[in-house]
Amino acid sequence: MPNLSQHFQTETYFSINSEDELINSFRLRDQKKLVLPQGLIYPFNVRSYFTWQESNAVYTYLLFKTPNWDMPRGVVFKRFASNGEPTGGLCSWCNAYGSSEDIGMLSLHVDANVSLGYFLCHDLRCIEKIEEASARAGKSPEKNIAQLYHRMASLFENLNK
Ligand SMILES: [Zn+2]
Repeated sequence: MPNLSQHFQTETYFSINSEDELINSFRLRDQKKLVLPQGLIYPFNVRSYFTWQESNAVYTYLLFKTPNWDMPRGVVFKRFASNGEPTGGLCSWCNAYGSSEDIGMLSLHVDANVSLGYFLCHDLRCIEKIEEASARAGKSPEKNIAQLYHRMASLFENLNK
């Protein structure tokens, strides 16, 4: 009988010990766009991913680690300026529904020539939204969380230095 079950990731816990370590988790091209979060005290502990936005909410930062990676990896998303009708939609990572205030296109550079767009929660609070939705539905969030981490991991696998 074929085994169709996917290998789902469980939580990964990691620590960031210094500002340098945080900065060096990001690619050089992304380090230029880093605005570090205020009031961060080192070391700090992360459950699977850590995210923040700079004050203008133009850039959203994501720091993530799978169990297979030695080190966490970071990426910088840029909010796609919308100049048309406000639209909302479904986040492609957590399936939360929201208005254009909450959910929209975030872009990132794969390399110097290629950028990709993802339709996501602007603040990347996907894990919280999954947990809230599961609690409301009385379901375990485990499968959706695993799927979220799988999607995040695929994003990083696509990136070049
Ligand atoms: Zn989301």
